[in-house]
Amino acid sequence: MNNLHTKHGVLKLPAFLPDATRGVVRCVDSQDLRRCGVQGLVINAYHLMLNPGAKLLRQMRGCHVYMNWDMPILSDSGGFQLFSLIRQNPKLGTIRENKVIFKFSDGKKKILTPEKCIQAQFHLSSDIMMCLDYCTHSEDSPEVQLESVNRTIAWAKLCRAEYDRYLSQNRDERRPLIFAIIQGGNDRALRQHCADSLKSVGFDGYAFGGWPIDAKGDLLEDILAYTAELMPDDHPKYALGVGKPENIVACAEMGYNLFDCVVPTRDARHRRLYIFNADDWESVDLSKDDFYSCLYIQDKKHVTDSNPVSSLCDCLCCKNYSRAYLHYLFRIKDTLAYRLATIHNLRFYMNLMELIRKKRNVKRKA
Ligand SMILES: [Zn+2]
Repeated sequence: MNNLHTKHGVLKLPAFLPDATRGVVRCVDSQDLRRCGVQGLVINAYHLMLNPGAKLLRQMRGCHVYMNWDMPILSDSGGFQLFSLIRQNPKLGTIRENKVIFKFSDGKKKILTPEKCIQAQFHLSSDIMMCLDYCTHSEDSPEVQLESVNRTIAWAKLCRAEYDRYLSQNRDERRPLIFAIIQGGNDRALRQHCADSLKSVGFDGYAFGGWPIDAKGDLLEDILAYTAELMPDDHPKYALGVGKPENIVACAEMGYNLFDCVVPTRDARHRRLYIFNADDWESVDLSKDDFYSCLYIQDKKHVTDSNPVSSLCDCLCCKNYSRAYLHYLFRIKDTLAYRLATIHNLRFYMNLMELIRKKRNVKRKA
């Protein structure tokens, strides 16, 4: 697949979509994102349902208008965050047959159902919706993995039914895409059962669910590659949360073509900047482990360094400011430092995706 058509335009694949979890990519605005070449964003339905609320966003005519962002928006259901919180503290919530009950510290309860999750994503004006799924760790017991798969399939069916019902009642609504998530931990048979069941319901795209990395931080390559093969080739394949540059390159080789992660923006705020290890674009070799490196801008050696962060990069930061100035901005904790660093890392990721797309085209011609 080269392109993914959505109601707010086309995504060139493979694409990396930065996380605008709460309706903003931290430290940058929509214009900055456009100038970085960002094609689309990932928002989180659950967070936005809590604040500012799905009703308010519907009143404001959706997230595109609210954020002044007219390109594709993918909305995550928020199940992942919810399950992570409940996993850390089981007192925070319970998972029932067809709903998740979450208790806040002030005693208030919020109930998330597959149906509510889909309705909210319509109200957010999402271009690509995700079904509510039951997320696990690869180390979880076989019983938990089985339960996760059974619930994920049941919830996906409810999500699909609610999606069809909503569209039939709101005929002027342009059809967003709806993706399902394949769970099953490290168990191939479970992954296959989950994928087959979801494919028989029918979705516009499929995602790899669960943690894509092990406890040591290594990519779970075998199960990722196996699951990619279970997904139909004429549909987008989404590697949820895969974000380190070398992991994106590896997953793109397996056939995944949609990525999102907080890595580039979070690292930028922690002063870790990405640079390609090459003097020109032709020399960037993605097959090598060391095709990029991290520059730690707080290092003393940058105090008087008049070079840009990267001489290859054409971002606002690299075109106008030195490493010395950025080092200084971080030292005095000026908010401009976070903005410039975020812009640079996002531009690195956009260039990385462009290189992957070009490489794939070269391969195809050969
Ligand atoms: Zn730059």
